[in-house]
Amino acid sequence: MKRLLFLFLFLSFGILPGFAPPSILSNSTYIHPVNEVVYITKSGTKYHRGSCHHLKKSKIKTNKSDAKTAGYTACSVCKP
Ligand SMILES: [Zn+2]
Repeated sequence: MKRLLFLFLFLSFGILPGFAPPSILSNSTYIHPVNEVVYITKSGTKYHRGSCHHLKKSKIKTNKSDAKTAGYTACSVCKP
């Protein structure tokens, strides 16, 4: 029963805009349609899907918009 009450409270707080976490509020000012998780390497200039074999040496998690901003281009093998 306590668990249900907690769940109810959690859902109520999620609906109320005043209780939205700061991270959601700050993200709302920066909405980008392309925000997929992609991976870059230490030495490469391409961004990849997590399953790409080019990520054997290094694998740095980022997102597509950040990778593009940093000058990375899409890998022609995994086509992220
Ligand atoms: Zn790739």
